[in-house]
Amino acid sequence: MGKFKEELLESYDEVNEELPADVNDEINFGEEDDDSDGEFNKKKLFEKKSNAKKILVEEYNDHFLADAPVDNSQYKDSNVDLEAIETLLFPHAEIREAQDALIKKVDEVIKAKTNLIVHAPTGLGKTAAALSPALTHIMKKDNKNLTIYFLTSRHTQHKIVIDTLKRINEKFNLRIVGSSIIGKKHLCLQPSVDTLPSKEFAEFCRLLVEGGKCDFYTSVKQGTKIMPATEHVLNELKVVNRGVSTTESIIIESSKHHLCPYEVSILMAKQARVIVTDYSYIFNPGIREGFFKKINKELKDAILIIDEAHNLPNRVKDLVSEYLSNIMLKRAIVEAKKFGYAQVVSSLEDINAILETYTQSLTKEFESKYAKNTPEKAAVTLNSFTSANDLGKKNWSEMAQNERYVSKREFIESVEKIKDYDELIAELIFIGNAIRETQHVSYVGSVASFLEAWLGDDEGFTRIVSTKKLKDKTDMITLSYRCLDPSLITAPVVSGAYSTIMMSGTLTPTSMYRELFGINSEELTLKSPFPQENRMNLIIPKTSTKYESRSQEQYMEIGKILVDVSNNVDGCVAIYYPSYYLMEEITKFLDTKISKTIFTENPGMTKSEKQEFLQNFSAYQKKGAVLNAVITGSFAEGIDLPGVLKAVIIVGLPLQKPDLETKALIEYYDKKFNKGWDYGYLFPAFTKTIQAAGRCIRSETDKGVIIFLDERYSWNNYYRCFPITWKMRVSMLYTDLIKNFFEN
Ligand code: SF4
Repeated sequence: MGKFKEELLESYDEVNEELPADVNDEINFGEEDDDSDGEFNKKKLFEKKSNAKKILVEEYNDHFLADAPVDNSQYKDSNVDLEAIETLLFPHAEIREAQDALIKKVDEVIKAKTNLIVHAPTGLGKTAAALSPALTHIMKKDNKNLTIYFLTSRHTQHKIVIDTLKRINEKFNLRIVGSSIIGKKHLCLQPSVDTLPSKEFAEFCRLLVEGGKCDFYTSVKQGTKIMPATEHVLNELKVVNRGVSTTESIIIESSKHHLCPYEVSILMAKQARVIVTDYSYIFNPGIREGFFKKINKELKDAILIIDEAHNLPNRVKDLVSEYLSNIMLKRAIVEAKKFGYAQVVSSLEDINAILETYTQSLTKEFESKYAKNTPEKAAVTLNSFTSANDLGKKNWSEMAQNERYVSKREFIESVEKIKDYDELIAELIFIGNAIRETQHVSYVGSVASFLEAWLGDDEGFTRIVSTKKLKDKTDMITLSYRCLDPSLITAPVVSGAYSTIMMSGTLTPTSMYRELFGINSEELTLKSPFPQENRMNLIIPKTSTKYESRSQEQYMEIGKILVDVSNNVDGCVAIYYPSYYLMEEITKFLDTKISKTIFTENPGMTKSEKQEFLQNFSAYQKKGAVLNAVITGSFAEGIDLPGVLKAVIIVGLPLQKPDLETKALIEYYDKKFNKGWDYGYLFPAFTKTIQAAGRCIRSETDKGVIIFLDERYSWNNYYRCFPITWKMRVSMLYTDLIKNFFEN
């Protein structure tokens, strides 16, 4: 008997006890009287128990349909077929082996209210494997309060989750309400908000709403009263797709009725048992609180499924990092003058002067040392070293080219020479709010936010001032307060939630992520579901992009290998470079020698240009073409081209820039875990490499070669960073190996 059915019957007994007194009395009466009036009472008992079961089924239906938005008789009459639900609410006919392992683990950790970090390679079907046991759990009678939050950084992934839920609803004749919510700014119907920075947009929206100036908002509700148009839209959304609504459908329906799509999303989310959204709704402390309050739910009742969790450390660090530049200050000065706040202009000018003083000496030092070198060719770099010990022996000041640390005290003391620090913040906040009454954005308000953030903690943060030359030859000076430790954000959220599942195709080593997130969790590493023999991982230890090796000869040698591989592979090839600079330099040696059309990524591409670019490239599936892209760009992660790529080549190692933030990160993780080099430097580079490598094999029938083109990949210290499940080969005889691989 399936577990789920077993639990239903257990619940049946519980419900039986909870039945209205008269029903239970009668059943009990029947049982007691069984001897005296056998047949009659047995029949009566049977009828009563049948009734009880019917009530149970109805109760379960009501439970399943509890959040069903409308009394839609076509579903209510059809009742959930409880017998058909065996072990879990899984959308597909078959469960693959790796899915089974994931389902069991997710089920186990959710039941135990613990957490899981899972490395689940592409093609495993992890969305269904994680969602199904979680859904089965929240559908249980005692778990009515629970809600699943499926968090993902990609909009395409929203659709996959929503589609999976729709399939489950269809298969089991259910109406589990699900809703997708993206960032408020992207849902907003007010004109020209697209270009606003997120924080500015939040302020803009708040002021409009508080001032009663957003018609879209006031059309949704007045006070707590939902307006008839909103009711209508909610009903429309609930009728289609068994209560599962996409962002697109919410925007379309809301626009038709002049309603704020964000507010409509919130009303849908209130009823939803599955909410698909971005990390920030849960991990941004400022957003989370308001979000839960609005949807009337609590973190303790949240099952968090976090997809692409390898992106989470940087995403949460960004959420709590703040930046102040001379450009922002200049705009704030212009703004203050324009709106007649002359009293604050001199304070802003003085802050700007502080930034300039910090960097004057730096700029001179930087120019004298590195004037003849491009930033790509700094004399001493992190790449010169192979371990944290080496790093300690070097004088880091040589590497810190155009930046330096600034202490909290140092900046506050400088500001206090102008004005009392807290008073200045209060004044700037007041002016910023007043300006936002008139225009979307206020730079004065942004300066205030930075000054407030600067007062934050020291532990887990670093403070840096840096300069960089802009295209117009002016200097951009930036003072920053940057978060180094994602666990400061993730640990309290995960420990406050019911259960958390973190998953990704590049969450390896899982133990590192457990430590980075600062959580207690189980770990699971799954193998790729695709046949091993369809993939060759090859290190060619001949060239290197490390700074010391960079030269035209080296680029020519790299180019030669790229030409050899591309011309020997029958089909499309993707080449990923560590930077645009290197892509440009090396591509000079490809153009005339590669027999295929080359598609080169451009850093300024818009979303639609990127889509068109990929479509055009994919059209060469049979003829073969080369995709030239940067590993940190738009085509190394999140693109899915099944059947298209026959080879992926990773040129060099995408190590972090040798800057003070990297140094601070290495030192921080050395102090915290004695693993600064790995956690702060090496593994983040390998995560990018593994993500890019993952573009090659996207289906069971794909066959391809993945080449790691840098001698460092074969060195022990780097080689150990490849996932343990990967079979690696190291060889210079790459042309023969590639030929043999595709012939067999
Ligand atoms: S209430 Fe809605 S429509 Fe109005 S500004 Fe905010 S997000 Fe935009």
